[in-house]
Amino acid sequence: MTRVRRPVVAGWFTEGDGDREFRLLGTRCGACTAVFFPREDSFCRNPGCTGGELAEVPLSKRGRVWSYTAGRYRPPAPYASDPDTEWEPYTLVAVELEAERMVVLGQAVPGVTVEDLSVGAEVEVVPGILSEDADTAWTTWHWRPVEVDR
Ligand SMILES: [Zn+2]
Repeated sequence: MTRVRRPVVAGWFTEGDGDREFRLLGTRCGACTAVFFPREDSFCRNPGCTGGELAEVPLSKRGRVWSYTAGRYRPPAPYASDPDTEWEPYTLVAVELEAERMVVLGQAVPGVTVEDLSVGAEVEVVPGILSEDADTAWTTWHWRPVEVDR
């Protein structure tokens, strides 16, 4: 059975399966060049800016680990999680984007643990699945360590 792929939040990242082309999407103010993620579409939040047109921009594909932690237990409500399903631990990574120098949180790709990460290590954004139900695969972004030259 094929599940329909749906972004868990529309407009925050490109759609499609290709790892190479996948990017987070932010917006940039045409007046002061401030970049926003999550995207800001109504007004520039820079207090020193009189306001400019906000245009969608793809964010850096790569960044460096700023911090990370392991999610080993299910957070309490109102966290949305089916208590009847088994909790699958995941690794949460805060990444400073290469060009924008802003920190974006996300899960590491499945299989990557805190033992595989270190502050300053290079990672790249790739498409991932947040959860699946009977007919929908909810897509998101994941951080994947960049292979060091060998
Ligand atoms: Zn601005």
